[in-house]
Amino acid sequence: MTIFIKAPAKINLTLDVLNKRNDGYHEVEMIMTTIDLSDRIGLSEINENEIRIISQNRFVPDDQRNLAYQAAKVLKEKFNVKQGVSITIDKAIPVAAGLAGGSSDAAATLRGLNKLWNLGLSLDQLAEIGAEIGSDVSFCVYGGTAMAKGRGEKITYLPAPPNCWVILAKPSIGVSTADVYRNLDLSKVYHPDSNAMIAALQNGSYSSVCSCIGNVLESVTLSMHPEVQHIKEQMERFGADAVLMSGSGPTVFGLVQYDSRLQRIYNGLRGFCDQVYAVRMLGERVSD
Ligand code: ATP
Repeated sequence: MTIFIKAPAKINLTLDVLNKRNDGYHEVEMIMTTIDLSDRIGLSEINENEIRIISQNRFVPDDQRNLAYQAAKVLKEKFNVKQGVSITIDKAIPVAAGLAGGSSDAAATLRGLNKLWNLGLSLDQLAEIGAEIGSDVSFCVYGGTAMAKGRGEKITYLPAPPNCWVILAKPSIGVSTADVYRNLDLSKVYHPDSNAMIAALQNGSYSSVCSCIGNVLESVTLSMHPEVQHIKEQMERFGADAVLMSGSGPTVFGLVQYDSRLQRIYNGLRGFCDQVYAVRMLGERVSD
Protein backbone atom coordinates (compact mmCIF):
# COMPACT_ATOMS: atom_id res chain seq x y z
CA MET A 1 0.00 0.00 0.00
CA THR A 2 1.21 3.54 -0.83
CA ILE A 3 -0.21 6.81 0.38
CA PHE A 4 0.59 10.31 -0.88
CA ILE A 5 0.60 13.46 1.23
CA LYS A 6 1.22 17.10 0.37
CA ALA A 7 3.91 18.95 2.30
CA PRO A 8 3.36 22.71 1.81
CA ALA A 9 5.99 25.42 2.28
CA LYS A 10 5.53 28.26 4.79
CA ILE A 11 6.39 31.93 4.76
CA ASN A 12 6.99 34.14 7.77
CA LEU A 13 4.62 37.09 7.99
CA THR A 14 6.66 38.04 11.06
CA LEU A 15 9.80 36.64 12.63
CA ASP A 16 11.06 38.06 15.91
CA VAL A 17 13.86 36.81 18.15
CA LEU A 18 13.31 37.80 21.78
CA ASN A 19 16.50 36.49 23.41
CA LYS A 20 19.03 33.69 23.53
CA ARG A 21 18.16 31.06 26.13
CA ASN A 22 20.53 29.31 28.52
CA ASP A 23 20.07 26.05 26.54
CA GLY A 24 21.52 27.78 23.44
CA TYR A 25 18.20 28.04 21.56
CA HIS A 26 16.69 31.38 20.59
CA GLU A 27 13.31 32.38 22.00
CA VAL A 28 11.28 33.29 18.92
CA GLU A 29 7.89 34.74 18.06
CA MET A 30 6.85 33.97 14.48
CA ILE A 31 3.61 34.30 12.57
CA MET A 32 3.65 31.83 9.71
CA THR A 33 1.26 30.75 7.00
CA THR A 34 1.35 27.87 4.54
CA ILE A 35 1.41 28.51 0.79
CA ASP A 36 0.39 26.48 -2.25
CA LEU A 37 3.92 25.30 -3.08
CA SER A 38 4.21 21.71 -1.93
CA ASP A 39 6.50 18.71 -1.96
CA ARG A 40 4.74 15.40 -2.56
CA ILE A 41 5.55 12.61 -0.12
CA GLY A 42 4.83 8.96 -1.04
CA LEU A 43 4.88 6.38 1.77
CA SER A 44 5.02 2.69 0.75
CA GLU A 45 5.10 -0.41 2.90
CA ILE A 46 8.16 -2.58 2.20
CA ASN A 47 9.08 -6.08 3.33
CA GLU A 48 12.42 -5.12 4.91
CA ASN A 49 12.25 -3.57 8.38
CA GLU A 50 14.06 -0.36 7.43
CA ILE A 51 13.50 3.27 6.40
CA ARG A 52 14.42 4.20 2.82
CA ILE A 53 14.52 7.68 1.34
CA ILE A 54 14.15 8.16 -2.41
CA SER A 55 14.52 11.61 -4.00
CA GLN A 56 15.66 12.82 -7.40
CA ASN A 57 16.86 16.09 -5.88
CA ARG A 58 20.62 16.01 -5.32
CA PHE A 59 20.43 18.48 -2.42
CA VAL A 60 18.15 16.19 -0.41
CA PRO A 61 20.03 13.74 1.86
CA ASP A 62 18.93 10.11 1.47
CA ASP A 63 19.93 8.93 4.95
CA GLN A 64 19.35 9.71 8.63
CA ARG A 65 20.13 13.40 7.98
CA ASN A 66 16.80 13.68 6.15
CA LEU A 67 14.10 15.12 8.42
CA ALA A 68 11.48 12.77 6.93
CA TYR A 69 13.75 9.83 7.84
CA GLN A 70 14.02 11.20 11.39
CA ALA A 71 10.22 11.50 11.59
CA ALA A 72 9.76 7.85 10.58
CA LYS A 73 12.48 6.74 13.00
CA VAL A 74 10.96 8.56 15.98
CA LEU A 75 7.50 7.07 15.32
CA LYS A 76 8.94 3.58 14.72
CA GLU A 77 10.87 3.65 18.00
CA LYS A 78 8.16 5.27 20.13
CA PHE A 79 5.43 2.89 18.98
CA ASN A 80 7.59 -0.18 18.42
CA VAL A 81 6.57 -0.51 14.76
CA LYS A 82 8.16 -3.58 13.16
CA GLN A 83 7.28 -2.59 9.59
CA GLY A 84 9.59 -0.85 7.10
CA VAL A 85 8.74 2.11 4.88
CA SER A 86 10.00 3.66 1.69
CA ILE A 87 9.63 7.46 1.61
CA THR A 88 9.63 9.10 -1.82
CA ILE A 89 10.17 12.86 -1.74
CA ASP A 90 9.13 14.76 -4.86
CA LYS A 91 10.66 18.16 -4.20
CA ALA A 92 8.95 21.35 -5.39
CA ILE A 93 10.02 23.55 -2.46
CA PRO A 94 13.53 24.94 -3.00
CA VAL A 95 16.03 23.44 -0.53
CA ALA A 96 17.64 25.56 2.22
CA ALA A 97 15.50 28.52 1.22
CA GLY A 98 13.81 29.66 4.45
CA LEU A 99 10.55 27.96 3.42
CA ALA A 100 10.71 25.01 5.88
CA GLY A 101 10.82 22.36 3.15
CA GLY A 102 12.56 19.72 5.26
CA SER A 103 10.33 20.41 8.28
CA SER A 104 7.21 20.14 6.14
CA ASP A 105 8.40 16.82 4.69
CA ALA A 106 8.91 15.57 8.26
CA ALA A 107 5.46 16.78 9.30
CA ALA A 108 3.79 15.15 6.27
CA THR A 109 5.64 11.92 7.05
CA LEU A 110 4.29 12.00 10.62
CA ARG A 111 0.73 12.58 9.37
CA GLY A 112 1.04 9.90 6.70
CA LEU A 113 2.64 7.21 8.85
CA ASN A 114 0.01 7.85 11.53
CA LYS A 115 -2.47 6.57 8.90
CA LEU A 116 -0.29 3.88 7.28
CA TRP A 117 0.62 2.35 10.64
CA ASN A 118 -2.82 2.94 12.24
CA LEU A 119 -1.32 4.73 15.22
CA GLY A 120 -4.45 6.79 15.98
CA LEU A 121 -2.50 9.87 17.14
CA SER A 122 -4.09 13.34 17.18
CA LEU A 123 -2.51 16.31 15.41
CA ASP A 124 -1.55 17.70 18.85
CA GLN A 125 0.33 14.48 19.64
CA LEU A 126 2.04 14.50 16.23
CA ALA A 127 3.03 18.16 16.73
CA GLU A 128 4.58 17.30 20.10
CA ILE A 129 6.58 14.49 18.51
CA GLY A 130 7.52 16.86 15.66
CA ALA A 131 9.12 19.29 18.13
CA GLU A 132 11.76 16.62 18.85
CA ILE A 133 12.77 16.68 15.16
CA GLY A 134 13.00 20.40 14.45
CA SER A 135 11.58 23.71 15.61
CA ASP A 136 9.34 24.30 12.54
CA VAL A 137 7.94 20.75 12.43
CA SER A 138 5.15 21.36 14.99
CA PHE A 139 3.75 24.25 12.94
CA CYS A 140 4.00 22.20 9.73
CA VAL A 141 1.98 19.34 11.28
CA TYR A 142 -1.07 21.65 11.39
CA GLY A 143 -0.30 24.07 8.56
CA GLY A 144 -2.59 27.07 8.16
CA THR A 145 -1.78 30.33 9.91
CA ALA A 146 -0.37 30.47 13.43
CA MET A 147 1.88 32.20 15.91
CA ALA A 148 4.78 29.99 17.02
CA LYS A 149 6.60 30.80 20.27
CA GLY A 150 9.31 29.23 22.40
CA ARG A 151 11.71 27.43 20.04
CA GLY A 152 8.81 27.41 17.56
CA GLU A 153 6.85 24.56 19.15
CA LYS A 154 4.17 26.55 21.05
CA ILE A 155 1.46 27.08 18.46
CA THR A 156 -1.55 29.43 18.67
CA TYR A 157 -4.03 29.45 15.79
CA LEU A 158 -4.83 32.63 13.86
CA PRO A 159 -7.27 33.51 11.08
CA ALA A 160 -6.01 33.04 7.52
CA PRO A 161 -4.66 36.19 5.83
CA PRO A 162 -6.91 37.91 3.25
CA ASN A 163 -6.62 36.16 -0.09
CA CYS A 164 -3.76 37.36 -2.26
CA TRP A 165 -0.90 36.15 -4.42
CA VAL A 166 2.51 35.33 -3.01
CA ILE A 167 5.40 35.74 -5.38
CA LEU A 168 8.68 34.14 -4.32
CA ALA A 169 12.18 34.57 -5.68
CA LYS A 170 15.18 32.59 -4.51
CA PRO A 171 18.67 33.69 -5.52
CA SER A 172 21.02 30.81 -6.24
CA ILE A 173 23.09 31.25 -3.10
CA GLY A 174 23.18 29.32 0.17
CA VAL A 175 22.61 31.11 3.45
CA SER A 176 23.91 29.61 6.66
CA THR A 177 21.23 30.01 9.34
CA ALA A 178 23.94 29.61 12.01
CA ASP A 179 25.95 32.52 10.52
CA VAL A 180 22.85 34.73 10.38
CA TYR A 181 22.10 34.09 14.07
CA ARG A 182 25.79 34.63 14.93
CA ASN A 183 25.70 38.07 13.28
CA LEU A 184 22.38 39.04 14.88
CA ASP A 185 22.67 41.87 17.42
CA LEU A 186 19.23 42.07 19.04
CA SER A 187 19.80 45.65 20.22
CA LYS A 188 20.46 46.90 16.69
CA VAL A 189 17.68 45.35 14.60
CA TYR A 190 14.10 46.29 13.80
CA HIS A 191 11.65 44.11 15.76
CA PRO A 192 8.30 43.43 14.08
CA ASP A 193 5.10 44.09 16.02
CA SER A 194 3.52 40.62 16.37
CA ASN A 195 0.45 41.98 18.17
CA ALA A 196 -0.24 44.40 15.33
CA MET A 197 -0.05 41.49 12.86
CA ILE A 198 -2.45 39.43 14.99
CA ALA A 199 -4.90 42.36 14.97
CA ALA A 200 -4.48 42.74 11.18
CA LEU A 201 -5.32 39.05 10.67
CA GLN A 202 -8.28 39.23 13.06
CA ASN A 203 -9.61 42.28 11.20
CA GLY A 204 -9.01 40.65 7.81
CA SER A 205 -7.24 43.83 6.68
CA TYR A 206 -4.94 43.25 3.69
CA SER A 207 -3.37 46.71 3.94
CA SER A 208 -2.58 46.21 7.66
CA VAL A 209 -1.07 42.76 6.97
CA CYS A 210 1.14 44.44 4.34
CA SER A 211 2.26 47.19 6.70
CA CYS A 212 2.95 44.82 9.65
CA ILE A 213 5.16 42.21 7.99
CA GLY A 214 8.69 42.14 9.40
CA ASN A 215 11.64 39.83 9.98
CA VAL A 216 14.33 40.53 12.56
CA LEU A 217 16.84 38.46 10.54
CA GLU A 218 16.30 40.33 7.28
CA SER A 219 18.81 43.17 7.76
CA VAL A 220 21.45 40.64 8.88
CA THR A 221 21.07 38.45 5.78
CA LEU A 222 20.79 41.48 3.47
CA SER A 223 24.08 42.88 4.73
CA MET A 224 25.77 39.49 4.21
CA HIS A 225 24.25 38.83 0.75
CA PRO A 226 23.72 41.81 -1.60
CA GLU A 227 21.89 39.47 -4.05
CA VAL A 228 19.01 39.23 -1.57
CA GLN A 229 18.90 43.01 -1.18
CA HIS A 230 18.79 43.35 -4.97
CA ILE A 231 15.81 40.97 -5.29
CA LYS A 232 13.99 42.81 -2.53
CA GLU A 233 14.51 46.19 -4.22
CA GLN A 234 13.41 44.88 -7.61
CA MET A 235 10.27 43.27 -6.22
CA GLU A 236 9.37 46.58 -4.58
CA ARG A 237 10.15 48.48 -7.78
CA PHE A 238 8.02 46.14 -9.92
CA GLY A 239 5.07 46.91 -7.64
CA ALA A 240 4.55 44.23 -4.94
CA ASP A 241 2.32 45.51 -2.11
CA ALA A 242 4.75 44.27 0.60
CA VAL A 243 8.10 42.49 0.38
CA LEU A 244 9.96 40.45 3.01
CA MET A 245 12.60 37.75 3.35
CA SER A 246 11.28 34.43 4.72
CA GLY A 247 13.04 32.70 7.65
CA SER A 248 16.80 33.25 7.53
CA GLY A 249 16.57 33.56 3.74
CA PRO A 250 17.56 33.72 1.03
CA THR A 251 14.01 33.53 -0.44
CA VAL A 252 12.22 36.86 -0.69
CA PHE A 253 8.43 36.96 -1.06
CA GLY A 254 6.05 39.67 -2.14
CA LEU A 255 2.32 40.00 -1.50
CA VAL A 256 0.27 41.05 -4.51
CA GLN A 257 -3.48 41.56 -4.77
CA TYR A 258 -4.05 42.11 -8.50
CA ASP A 259 -3.42 39.53 -11.25
CA SER A 260 -2.30 42.20 -13.75
CA ARG A 261 0.45 43.41 -11.46
CA LEU A 262 1.51 39.85 -10.60
CA GLN A 263 2.36 39.14 -14.23
CA ARG A 264 4.53 42.24 -14.46
CA ILE A 265 6.45 41.42 -11.27
CA TYR A 266 6.88 37.76 -12.29
CA ASN A 267 8.27 38.68 -15.72
CA GLY A 268 10.56 41.32 -14.25
CA LEU A 269 12.05 38.92 -11.70
CA ARG A 270 12.45 36.11 -14.25
CA GLY A 271 14.73 38.46 -16.18
CA PHE A 272 17.52 37.91 -13.67
CA CYS A 273 16.41 35.17 -11.23
CA ASP A 274 15.92 31.47 -12.16
CA GLN A 275 13.72 30.42 -9.28
CA VAL A 276 10.53 32.49 -9.22
CA TYR A 277 7.12 31.15 -8.14
CA ALA A 278 3.66 32.70 -8.01
CA VAL A 279 1.30 30.87 -5.66
CA ARG A 280 -1.76 31.37 -3.46
CA MET A 281 -1.78 31.27 0.32
CA LEU A 282 -3.35 28.13 1.80
CA GLY A 283 -4.23 29.81 5.08
CA GLU A 284 -6.42 27.02 6.50
CA ARG A 285 -5.04 24.32 8.79
CA VAL A 286 -4.96 20.59 8.09
CA SER A 287 -7.86 18.65 9.61
CA ASP A 288 -7.31 15.60 11.84
P1 ATP B 1 13.73 26.43 7.68
O1 ATP B 1 12.90 27.44 6.96
O2 ATP B 1 12.92 25.47 8.55
O3 ATP B 1 14.94 26.99 8.38
P2 ATP B 1 14.90 25.78 5.16
O4 ATP B 1 13.78 25.95 4.19
O5 ATP B 1 15.83 26.93 5.26
O6 ATP B 1 14.32 25.43 6.56
P3 ATP B 1 15.35 23.08 4.24
O7 ATP B 1 14.84 23.11 2.85
O8 ATP B 1 14.54 22.38 5.26
O9 ATP B 1 15.74 24.54 4.78
O10 ATP B 1 16.83 22.46 4.15
C1 ATP B 1 17.86 22.71 5.10
C2 ATP B 1 18.83 21.53 5.07
O11 ATP B 1 18.16 20.40 5.62
C3 ATP B 1 19.26 21.12 3.68
O12 ATP B 1 20.49 21.67 3.35
C4 ATP B 1 19.30 19.60 3.69
O13 ATP B 1 20.62 19.11 3.77
C5 ATP B 1 18.61 19.20 5.00
N1 ATP B 1 17.39 18.36 4.80
C6 ATP B 1 17.04 17.35 5.58
N2 ATP B 1 15.89 16.80 5.18
C7 ATP B 1 15.48 17.47 4.10
C8 ATP B 1 14.34 17.36 3.25
N3 ATP B 1 13.40 16.43 3.42
N4 ATP B 1 14.22 18.25 2.26
C9 ATP B 1 15.18 19.21 2.09
N5 ATP B 1 16.28 19.34 2.84
C10 ATP B 1 16.44 18.48 3.86
